[in-house]
Amino acid sequence: MKQTRVKTKSRRRTTIFIAGGVMSGVGKGVTTASLGALLKARGLRVTAVKIDPYLNVDPGTLNPTEHGEVFVTQDGLETDQDLGNYERFLEEDLSRENSMTSGMVFQAILNRERSMGYHGKTVEWVPDVPLEIISRIKRAAATADADVTIVEIGGTVGEYQNLLYLEACRMMRLEHPKDVLIGLVSFLPVPSSIGEMKTKPTQYAVRSLNEAGLQPDLIICRSAYPIDEPRKRKLSVSCNVAPQDVIAAPDVDTIYAVPTKLEKEGLADRVIEKLGFKHTKIDGHKWHDLVRNIHASTKPVKIGVVGKYFSTGDFTLSDAYLSVLEAIKHASWACHRKPEIVWLNSEDFERHPETVAKELRKLNGLIIPGGFGARGINGKLLAIRYAREHKLPYLGLCYGMQLALVEMARDELGWKDANTTEIDPDTKHPVVHLMDEQLKKMEDKNYGGTMRLGDYPCVLKKGTKARELYQAEIVRERHRHRYEANPDYRKEFEKLGVVFSGISPDDKLAEIMELKHHPFFMASQFHPEFTSRPFRPNPLFLGLIKAAAKKK
Ligand code: GLN
Repeated sequence: MKQTRVKTKSRRRTTIFIAGGVMSGVGKGVTTASLGALLKARGLRVTAVKIDPYLNVDPGTLNPTEHGEVFVTQDGLETDQDLGNYERFLEEDLSRENSMTSGMVFQAILNRERSMGYHGKTVEWVPDVPLEIISRIKRAAATADADVTIVEIGGTVGEYQNLLYLEACRMMRLEHPKDVLIGLVSFLPVPSSIGEMKTKPTQYAVRSLNEAGLQPDLIICRSAYPIDEPRKRKLSVSCNVAPQDVIAAPDVDTIYAVPTKLEKEGLADRVIEKLGFKHTKIDGHKWHDLVRNIHASTKPVKIGVVGKYFSTGDFTLSDAYLSVLEAIKHASWACHRKPEIVWLNSEDFERHPETVAKELRKLNGLIIPGGFGARGINGKLLAIRYAREHKLPYLGLCYGMQLALVEMARDELGWKDANTTEIDPDTKHPVVHLMDEQLKKMEDKNYGGTMRLGDYPCVLKKGTKARELYQAEIVRERHRHRYEANPDYRKEFEKLGVVFSGISPDDKLAEIMELKHHPFFMASQFHPEFTSRPFRPNPLFLGLIKAAAKKK
């Protein structure tokens, strides 16, 4: 569903701010998304805004190990991975209005100041910055024509860079006291040395909110276990919140169980009551059914993902490939299979080529996701060759398609130097090259937000696997790339059994390639993972898992 209408005659708009307590990374995004799903299941129109307080204008230029995945909206904004969670739970396409960074806020203010937009007045941190924040929240609400806009403030209360957002929340609440709620998603540790759930850090987090002039309406307690009654009462008394507004949110084995869990805890009912909406019956069956199917899918399907954005210090980060991971899950569950993801480091393959066959032999399917630059490239090429020669079901995503062409050019066309010009600008066989529109941008070092971004139409050729999977002639999928398959080599590849089964309507850009004599070898220039949803798996992922499930 496209949300481009801006309704002028507005319905009542309400806003729920979600702030974080104690520490980040405890599932504020999934909580926000799940609350949205529960309100939507009651017939309300819901949208969600993610605030990232950093000064980068968008995360597009950030290193994936630094930031995690860059999610791309259909209208082409590079944004935080939480937008992906919102889309998967709300089952709606969001737009660039649903994302806000301090970089965007300040850029807008400074541009306005330079063009006399403040009419010669002094521009102040307060109220001008919060006012810009508020106007963006209102714009997001209007764009989605939402009854409820959930605004997630990244990070935790007490952080310096959150202050102006809390101030925006305070000002909005002052202006619309009945229409603004504040929820604190806080973490309650159970230190192993004590073996007891501690509420004190959350009490301090509420103090921090109080210092900013805010009182939470709800406290959502993330912890390994459900919070018990005595602790609920303790938080209630010390934080000035009714006991029924202290909501348990214990760990669950799949994020898709969070909506049903929070529903049982009464979170959405409390919200409805506080905002004064009429109680309507919830239609939440599908979340129950989804979780039941997840638990019933026990037969494994093993999918390898070859990447390089894994390591930050001692941690392994699958975060950089979050939507890919979710898309594998959606498709696997649709086939009643239990997804087993095997993370494979392409640099390990490079250092130890002899391990490629040993590792890939164990798999039912292989994915090479998006990527940039030369590091780890040879490991990926080795994996692609194995998949092609050993009929291992393969799905290439963006770089995974470009590298499949490089691999075949080298191995089957015998052009040892074939490459993408991203890695070797002087290759004699540039089978993947910079798109025309990108040349000038690269020369000007104009890197931020300038790739080919967002959704574009793709025409599917009759009689191909892609067309069969999508069951449509034209599809729209989301992109994030600067390079493309060089059309000068199309004929050569076609002689090898490559079918360019998806092409841009002007016939210029190859969007999907597949191999004729292979059970499943499919790669796309776009990122199908961004449109996969739990109740609507992406067709290409479904194709991969179906083929993988058949593989012994
Ligand atoms: N680096 C490649 C390009 O810019 C692929 C990008 C990607 O995989 N998202 O075209």
